[in-house]
Amino acid sequence: MSDFHYDLFVIGAGSGGVRAARLAAQLGKRVAIAEEYRIGGTCVIRGCVPKKLLVYGSRYGAEIEDACAFGWSYGDLEFQWPTLIHNVQREVDRLNGVYTRTLENAGVERFLTRATVDGPHGVRLADRDATVSADYILVATGSAPTFPSVPGAEYFISSNECFQFETLPESIVILGAGYIGMEFASIFAGLGVTVTVVHRGDQILRGFDMDLRDIVAEALRDRGVDLRMDTNITSIEKDGEGYRVVLTDGDVLHASSVMAATGRKPNTKGLGLEAVGVELGSNGRVVVDAYSKTAADNIYAVGDVTDRANLTPVAIREGTAFVETVFEGQPKAMDYSLIPTAVFTEPEIGTVGLSEEDARKDHQVDIYKTSFRPMRATISGRGEKVFMKLAVDAVTDKVLGLHMVGPDAAEIVQMAAIALRLGATKADFDATMALHPSMAEEFVTLRQKWEPPTPVKGSDAAA
Ligand code: FAD
Repeated sequence: MSDFHYDLFVIGAGSGGVRAARLAAQLGKRVAIAEEYRIGGTCVIRGCVPKKLLVYGSRYGAEIEDACAFGWSYGDLEFQWPTLIHNVQREVDRLNGVYTRTLENAGVERFLTRATVDGPHGVRLADRDATVSADYILVATGSAPTFPSVPGAEYFISSNECFQFETLPESIVILGAGYIGMEFASIFAGLGVTVTVVHRGDQILRGFDMDLRDIVAEALRDRGVDLRMDTNITSIEKDGEGYRVVLTDGDVLHASSVMAATGRKPNTKGLGLEAVGVELGSNGRVVVDAYSKTAADNIYAVGDVTDRANLTPVAIREGTAFVETVFEGQPKAMDYSLIPTAVFTEPEIGTVGLSEEDARKDHQVDIYKTSFRPMRATISGRGEKVFMKLAVDAVTDKVLGLHMVGPDAAEIVQMAAIALRLGATKADFDATMALHPSMAEEFVTLRQKWEPPTPVKGSDAAA
């Protein structure tokens, strides 16, 4: 046994830290973890889980309306935000307990305080002004929202505060059109809030396949979300109970709340990492190698703090790989290809592999796509559409990217990701029997290659 207090000290009890701490403790290692807010981290406390519950909540209004055409009737529809947010918070509390007990049962010592690195093997615990020692230190401190610096920036809230609203705002301006901004735009629109999205780019959801971006933008506009592209916020002022928001194009918006969804920054400020030789990137991320090892020999980092692929399953996988590498003698390098991703807007996006635009950079690509009305809409009368797309390597026939917009897109794409991981070709998709009647069957019945529209004679000469 070493002279250190612990074999492993984990800073941050979120997705990556909890997984690593539990697995190492189950191997018989002496493990401690520090958490300065709530055990469970962003995903459980103020990210994926409460957000998805709000998504469910925001969809019921339309679903109940649709049910009428299927013969159901009901009294007056009324939405009570306090009921939804109270129930979401209760579930968050339950999960916080589950995560705490998981650590407890594995024998992980918990410190509910801020921790910082104090020497190559030292961890300083803020609440007791004491330093403990560990053979290995794992930094799993996640990330935090960033706010643009404009006059009145102090009025911005982030996604964190949306989970604490006591009353639902009547209107909200959301700055930023990444997945978090768009998911909240969709949630609030579904709950009857007047939503305006302000974004400096020319389309929402940068980085996703262009078809998906266009389709979701159009669908959100149809649902009443005001998408203001190519513009930004220049200032925010208090205006009675709400705010006056001035845009770069001169427009002035009035809203009950103003949310910044303009990105997140790795939590490394004041952690003491540089002093022990850990290299930080320009945005403060911890620089690590494929095994999550930092520039300091016994210090590793996993999850959002390393700013690789900022998703819960990735942080969990990195935590697992860290334990296998360091404590099981089986070095495990991370693989970031083919990470399936969802955007829980209404309609929902599910996507895995390369966008058409990225696929075309290195491959000769065939595109297969289809758009149709889901069966339930034929009766409900709702104007919803499903969109599906495959980007296929024209030389090898391998499916490089699979994309969907529509109901249950996340569920469908999670399963399809296995096929892509196995290297499925378009011929494999074609040979797979359809499951009828389903939406997903369209992925195995796509026969017609999509051809870009031929330019009208003379029109390109003028361009
Ligand atoms: P975290 O889970 O953030 O945990 C880090 C922990 O460290 C925090 O609890 C923090 O309080 C603590 N901490 C920080 N500094 C210290 C310190 N010095 N001492 C002690 N404790 C410290 N991902 C998905 O895969 N799917 C989704 O649908 C999804 N939705 C999201 C929605 C929102 C609104 C947000 C914000 C994120 C979402 N994410 C989603 C991303 C996901 O939550 C993160 O990728 C994931 O939580 C990262 O895990 P982590 O362990 O790196 O960090």
